[in-house]
Parts: sequence; C-alpha cells; structure tokens
Amino acid sequence: VRKKVLSIDIGATKLALAIVNESLSIERKEVVKVSGLNSEQLWSEVRSKAIKLVDGIETALLGIGIGSAGPINVLHGTVSPVNIQIWREFPIVQLLKDLFEVENVKLEGDAIAFTRAEHVIGAGKGLENFLGMVVSTGIGGGLILNNRVFYGESENASFVGHQSINFDAEVCTCGRSGCVEMYASGPSMVANAKKKGWIGGERFEDLAKSAERGDLVAIESIEEGARALSVGVLNTVTGLDIHNVILGGGVIQAGEIFWKPVEMNIEREASKVGFLKGRLKVREAHLGQNAGLIGAAISVLQL
Ligand SMILES: [Zn+2]
Repeated sequence: VRKKVLSIDIGATKLALAIVNESLSIERKEVVKVSGLNSEQLWSEVRSKAIKLVDGIETALLGIGIGSAGPINVLHGTVSPVNIQIWREFPIVQLLKDLFEVENVKLEGDAIAFTRAEHVIGAGKGLENFLGMVVSTGIGGGLILNNRVFYGESENASFVGHQSINFDAEVCTCGRSGCVEMYASGPSMVANAKKKGWIGGERFEDLAKSAERGDLVAIESIEEGARALSVGVLNTVTGLDIHNVILGGGVIQAGEIFWKPVEMNIEREASKVGFLKGRLKVREAHLGQNAGLIGAAISVLQL
C-alpha cells in the first residue's frame, strides 16, 4: 500500500486540497473558493472537503502538508494570507491535527512549496541555486540555496512580492508602499489598466487578450508589470548572486504576451550587473497549478 498525504494549497482566491501519493501523483482534488465566505464558513468548507478526501483513502494518512500564501507563523501553526483578509493568525495546523489525529502536519509558504516541487521533479531539477516565483493573484517566492530549500529565520524567506520598488507610491495591502505585487500581479495589472481607461474586463486573461489584439493601454500595463517583476527578480538575485530563476503561476501561464516582456526586461536589467550579465537564465515552471500541492506533499514524505 502506498503512502498518502493530504496536501492543502492556500492561495489568494481559493484553496486546493488533494490526496498525493508517494509517487507524487495527485489522486483526488477538491477546490474551495474564498469569495463570499466568512472565516468560520471558509474553515467549514475546507474541513468537509478534507474529510471527504481522507475518507476515500484505503490506508492511514501519513501526514498533512500545507503550502500557504504568506505571511505564515510556523511556530504557532497559523496563517495570515495577505489576500484572504478573513484569516488572520488562523490556527490551521492545530485544527487539522485535532481533526485527523495526526502529528505530522507541515506548514510552509506556498511559493516555497512550489519551489521545492520544481526542484525535485520540475524545471529546477539539478540546479544548485535558484529563485522560484509564483506570479498570480499575488506574487510569492522560494529559494533553493546549496541544493536545499532556504527557509529563513521565521520560514518566510523570499517574500519577494512585498519588496518595495517605489517607496513613495500608494500603500499595499501588506502595509508597505510600492510593492512588486502592486504592479505585477494579475489583478494589479488589470486595475492599473482600468485607471488609464481600459474597459475590457475584470480578469488578467481579458487584459492579455486585449494586448494581443493591439490595445495600447493593455500593452502598456502588461509592460509595466513585466518591468516591476524584473526589478524585483533582479533585486533578489543580485543580493544572493544566483543565476537561475523559475517563474510559474497563472499570469505566467497566460503565455507570450507577458513572458516576452518579462524575459526582455530581466535580460536588460541583468546586463547592467557585471556578474549576472549573460548568465542569468529565466525558465518557465513545469508543474502547472499543482506545483504547490506536490511541494507540500514532498515536505511530508521527505523525498
Ligand atoms: Zn505589499
């Protein structure tokens, strides 16, 4: 009988739950949308989906892996995902331990989980050092240094979406000013385009389609997002002297319309830094939207 893990990926607008086996295949998956729910209702949805999934396995549960949007508090087992404002210091680890009577519950940043998965079976296989980033509703990061996940003192390492690249700008949801996420996340690019008069929709996919059709405001907003992301990437890799970056998440998956300006801007920024010039490589993630779930499972399975 194969070992099985319950993985939970806490994002910005939804939570994904899945049973992952030791071959790292996703056996079954459920999604809970956050919109319209209060804190108790959200937990109740997560709880019932988790019970449903765990009831369906024929073996004992090895453990539970949680990858959550930051910030997280690993010591207390709580999560305060920036974009899920109804959960602040939410004690998810204890709740799950009590619910399933398991001790092996691992909590980590969602982008750290993404980065680990890409390192073990994805685009980062064989790389000794790299920065992983998820560009989606929010922006998160993870680091592989000397072939291992780097967690930082409070396990929030590489909180790259909330580094300020414009300290005189408006205040971000996190409290700082001019964060990368305020320019380069999907919703930010849409909001910035709307401020300039674009009326083509609500989702990043709509903005991307507009840009593909040649809409100048859409193109400009995506270009600005790509520049912001590139500055954030360069700030991080310059500080660490690492030469590989892996980008994933919904906005990256939208295709060439964002990828091309990102690649170009990163190359241009890197060309100004002697030790990165011609060396910094940007790759697309391989694992798609299940990377976080797989990474959280790897941490429990200790592969
Ligand atoms: Zn911020």
